[in-house]
Amino acid sequence: MFKKILIANRGEIALRIQRACREMGIKSVVVYSEADRDAKYVRLADEAVCIGPAASSLSYLNMPAIISTAEVTDAEAIHPGYGFLSENADFAERVERSGFTFIGPTPESIRMMGDKVSAKQAMIRSGVPCVPGSEGALPDDPKEIIRIARAIGYPVIIKAAGGGGGRGMRVVHTEAALIHAVQTTRAEAGAAFGNPSVYMEKFLENPRHIEIQVLADQHRNAVWLGERDCSMQRRHQKIIEEAPAPGIPRRIIERIGDRCATACKKIGYRGAGTFEFLFENGEFYFIEMNTRVQVEHPVTELVTGVDIVQQQIRVAAGEKLPFTQRQVQLRGHAIECRINAEDPYKFTPSPGRITTWHAPGGPGVRVDSHVYANYFVPPHYDSMIGKIIVHGDTRDQALARMRIALSETVVEGILTNIPLHRELMVDAKFVEGGTSIHYLEGWMAAHKR
Ligand code: ADP
Repeated sequence: MFKKILIANRGEIALRIQRACREMGIKSVVVYSEADRDAKYVRLADEAVCIGPAASSLSYLNMPAIISTAEVTDAEAIHPGYGFLSENADFAERVERSGFTFIGPTPESIRMMGDKVSAKQAMIRSGVPCVPGSEGALPDDPKEIIRIARAIGYPVIIKAAGGGGGRGMRVVHTEAALIHAVQTTRAEAGAAFGNPSVYMEKFLENPRHIEIQVLADQHRNAVWLGERDCSMQRRHQKIIEEAPAPGIPRRIIERIGDRCATACKKIGYRGAGTFEFLFENGEFYFIEMNTRVQVEHPVTELVTGVDIVQQQIRVAAGEKLPFTQRQVQLRGHAIECRINAEDPYKFTPSPGRITTWHAPGGPGVRVDSHVYANYFVPPHYDSMIGKIIVHGDTRDQALARMRIALSETVVEGILTNIPLHRELMVDAKFVEGGTSIHYLEGWMAAHKR
């Protein structure tokens, strides 16, 4: 096992990885930007090294600075967390070439899945069902694009092959709007992701977002750890996640879960990963694979009892998975609310100083957050300041525990989305379960928020 790991991330996930290291008796090195100098997890780390100014491009995305920090601190492995460099194949390659272990899949797997067009093609080859759409990237010829859209049928969605974080997507309802939408998405994708390649999919009108968590080792073992329902989204970004997905028969989930585990073996995948699907009328349609730990991993941890971050570290060190598929048992129900420093209804970021912070507690409540009273939320990064995750024997119990947890939580000094979460936890349709990815949008309009 590694003696020392460098954590190439910030915020709650840096703390989460640090905790996993501590429990395993591994020393941790935290890199931080000038904006995160005072963060408590930075002070709690065995070693902490400032690698640059606030701007991510000069700090958390600064590959030479991160790798040379690993060198001078004698770290053996680098955990990239999520976001930042976690899905950057070039980074994974440079880490390994410099003699360190990248805690994640091979650069080849990251590259294949990072391009959504090649990811879809790999899934089709592995027998995983995909959203009907263009075969590969869209050509330049407008006539050809029109032909493809007609064959798929409107509405369609134009998506950037290199897109992520809910960006680089455009829905098209009519042929008249098609070519302009393709051109705009291409231009945006080129500027934002350095890859102007776009593809087309059928726009599903009422799907749910269901994803499968997988874990694979370097000895060709792969398991899936149940599913998560992440349909509650704002601007294509998840805000509430739960496991299991309410109302979907287990045999349908098991079929798709087994396919994901088989696909992992076929492509030689290693580490933790997530297959994301849209689910409509009883069918699963693959949209993308994330080759890293996800924000919402705790709901799976609570229902399976598996520590996903520790397993990532173990399989990176070459260990075999300590359990088989049959030994994966789901127990109870878990729900996560992402707490964002933002206006609850307009979603505009609200960075600044937190004056009061009371975290909830009690049976079945887990809080993953790096913030505290007097913490300054820097304006430079993602607005998520933590996650409240609850577990119960049943979904009703989990819902009740989440309502209590949210009622106990006090954050002052900045705006957060807690008021929105409180409303959604008593919303009749959400409580019933099974709302679609467009539900929140409609809810906001209906409630004039
Ligand atoms: P990203 O990598 O930016 O997260 P995804 O491909 O995972 O992009 O899509 C993010 C979200 O966008 C999905 O959860 C869903 O809400 C919406 N979306 C993507 N593709 C489609 C589609 N074909 N039809 C309807 N909604 C879609």
